[in-house]
Amino acid sequence: MALSDYRFCVVGAGITGLVYAERIASQLNQPVLLVDKREKLGGNSSATIDEETGIEVHDYGSHIFHTANETVWNYISQFAAFNSYRHHVLIHTCGHVYFMPINLKTIQEVSGKAFTPDEAREWIESSTNGSGEPRNLEEKAISLIGPDLYRLFIKGYTAKQWGRPPSELPADIITRLPVRMTYDTEYFNARHQGIPADGYDAMFRKMAGTPGIRLLLKTSFSEIAAQLSRDCTIIYTGMIDEFFGYCFGALEWRSLRFERETVPVRDYQGTTVMNYGDETVPYTRIHEFKHYHPEWEKPFNAGKTIIFREYPMAWKPGLEAFYPVNDERNNSLLRKYRELANRHPGILFCGRLGAYKYWDMDKAVAMSLEGFDALARRRYER
Ligand code: UDP
Repeated sequence: MALSDYRFCVVGAGITGLVYAERIASQLNQPVLLVDKREKLGGNSSATIDEETGIEVHDYGSHIFHTANETVWNYISQFAAFNSYRHHVLIHTCGHVYFMPINLKTIQEVSGKAFTPDEAREWIESSTNGSGEPRNLEEKAISLIGPDLYRLFIKGYTAKQWGRPPSELPADIITRLPVRMTYDTEYFNARHQGIPADGYDAMFRKMAGTPGIRLLLKTSFSEIAAQLSRDCTIIYTGMIDEFFGYCFGALEWRSLRFERETVPVRDYQGTTVMNYGDETVPYTRIHEFKHYHPEWEKPFNAGKTIIFREYPMAWKPGLEAFYPVNDERNNSLLRKYRELANRHPGILFCGRLGAYKYWDMDKAVAMSLEGFDALARRRYER
């Protein structure tokens, strides 16, 4: 089939692109092109099984599938069985290690008091000034946890992560983190969690293997765009501003750099993710991937382990984009790009990059399923 015969082209084989391509092929019974400039599937959630150790390494840092959305869970479970991993995060700060997110145990350790849930709440409330609507991340965090916990757990980590003081960041970033007045130390509230039992790559290959999908890896959209027919619907999961040649200026992103090390010990840090709260430590966290698969006994028990130290950095063209900076300036720039995109109804901008939204994998799946339904309805009505 010639490229010009395709009625659907999905640009980007990350989780969003994979869901769209799979739905178009399996539900609309339409052939679909799936194009990605990288040689691997999964976008920034891709993973590789290390040849030497057998450890599954998340190429762009830890990705844990977690969701409270039954539709999303039922959908993704068609492509993988998940192991029983439940995510826990610890934070190394001022010489101690605590459980994140902040919970009753963390509060007791910091305060030195064996508080009940109500006493812990009172302790926090007595230290917050409680005045007015929080205008930024710092004010929001202090209103939730008080200044002491803020200084230990949020201030340094957030300044390193976002490259600016929390007082200059939008408040909603911090609402990703729960605060719990219980001894529950799980990182996510989501009922469903896990890592694909055979690894992420096997799951992504199963999605991309849906009959009707023609996969073109190591191919950039610009190489094939001229060959597509005018009535080909394009699902574009790359950056919206890049697509339009940055005509209104570039949206701001945070990027990351990972320093990889194979360490000759069985267990480096005893857990998957250790955050570092002190600003004097230049990285934000260390990932130790073997802990995501304790059931993979051979790599788990072997005398070597693979870690990534994660260093946040400013994004510039040519670097990988990880986190959108959804402040007022960027969101108003985004509105301009969206208006421009509305004048191109044959192109849908989707996914974390296309929508410029700080989405987890499950949210990307949910948005893609909804987006696909809207696309299918539109086609049916035509
Ligand atoms: N955060 C923090 N301290 C931590 C963990 C997170 O201050 O130990 C803040 C930080 O601003 C971060 C945000 O909470 O950007 C969201 O954290 P999350 O773990 O959800 O980030 P992700 O895993 O998506 O990088």
